[in-house]
Amino acid sequence: MLEKVVIANRGEIALRILRACKELGIKTVAVYSEADHDQKHVFLSDESVCIGPAASIDSYLNIPAVISAAEVTDAVAIHPGYGFLSENADFAERVEQSGFVFIGPKAETIRLMGDKVSAIKAMKKAGIPCVPGSDGPLGDDPVKLKKTAKEIGYPVIIKASGGGGGRGMRVVHSEASLIKSITLTRAEAASAFGNDMVYMEKFLEHPRHIEIQILADEHGNVIYLGERDCSMQRRHQKVIEEAPAPGLDAATRKKIGERCVEACKAISYRGAGTFEFLYENGEFYFIEMNTRVQVEHPVTEMITGVDIVKEQLHIANGEPLNYKQDDIKINGHAIECRLNAEDPVNFMPSPGTIEHYHAPGGFGIRVDTHVYQGYKVPPHYDSMIGKLIAHAETRELAIARLSMALSEIVIDGIKTNIPLHQDLIQDTAFMAGGTDIHYLESKLGIK
Ligand code: ADP
Repeated sequence: MLEKVVIANRGEIALRILRACKELGIKTVAVYSEADHDQKHVFLSDESVCIGPAASIDSYLNIPAVISAAEVTDAVAIHPGYGFLSENADFAERVEQSGFVFIGPKAETIRLMGDKVSAIKAMKKAGIPCVPGSDGPLGDDPVKLKKTAKEIGYPVIIKASGGGGGRGMRVVHSEASLIKSITLTRAEAASAFGNDMVYMEKFLEHPRHIEIQILADEHGNVIYLGERDCSMQRRHQKVIEEAPAPGLDAATRKKIGERCVEACKAISYRGAGTFEFLYENGEFYFIEMNTRVQVEHPVTEMITGVDIVKEQLHIANGEPLNYKQDDIKINGHAIECRLNAEDPVNFMPSPGTIEHYHAPGGFGIRVDTHVYQGYKVPPHYDSMIGKLIAHAETRELAIARLSMALSEIVIDGIKTNIPLHQDLIQDTAFMAGGTDIHYLESKLGIK
């Protein structure tokens, strides 16, 4: 097995990776910023290295600092988690060039799938259904742009090819605002992602977000672990995720899962990955692939029993997958609430000290969090402070367990979105299952 792994991340995912490493007898190195010396995984790791000041750009995004930490500690591999450098192809390349194992796909795969225009092209070629769109980057000729939009049919959505995290997207309802919207999205994309390439897609009005989890080893074995429904979103960011997707039948799951497996083989994919789709009127439309572990991976773990992070470590060690497709059985239903340090009404971040903390528990409850009583949530990073996951035989029972856990959990001293989750899980439409991606915003009165 890999002897020692650098965990190039923070928060709950750093702790999640540390736990998987410990189970496999792998030594861990935590890297942390000056604002993060009191992270739980820093205390629990075998070694830790401060890699720079609080600002991510100077620490968690500082490639030379992360690689030096691996060098000085004699680590053999680097796990990037999600966010930060996890989908940075240059980082993956430099990790491998420096003689370390990058726990993820090859740099060229990250590059291919990280650029949405090239990803869509590759996926179409591999037989994956995509959203009707511009088939490539948009040019500058207003006449041609208007023609493209008209052919696709309004409303359309302008998206940055290098976009991520729900940013770099603009919906256009009519020709009057098309050119201005393209110009604005292009300018935003250039400053936010350093790449002004934009493309156009049909804006689907009532889709659900359904994604397929896959695992692939270096030996050509690929399996799918079913799907997750992540339709409960605000500003294109997921709030609640669940598996399986309510109402999706086994034949549909098999068909889209097998297509994803074939697509992975076509691009020689390695590691854990997710194909994200919009799902409308019984059809799947690919939107992007995430070439890393995702925040919502626990719901899949709960219903399949597969430890996705441990599998990532085995794959990075060059081992064949521990599972064949036939081994993957779906057992019950799991739902995850993302716990954020934010005002539940206006969503303003709420950093500060956690004065009281009590974890919920009981059969089927899982809490993935790095916080503890007295922990100070720093203001410098994403506001997610953990995830609460409920697993049960049926969706109804999972909701009941989640409801109980949400009423048990205590996080005092900062504001959290727990009241929003309490409200959402007893919402009639959510309880019925299958709400679309616009549901939460319309419920919140945003649109
Ligand atoms: P990101 O990389 O920023 O997460 P995605 O391409 O995955 O961007 O899209 C994020 C979300 O934006 C989707 O889950 C969906 O809610 C919305 N979205 C993206 N493309 C479309 C589309 N063509 N029609 C409607 N909604 C879309």
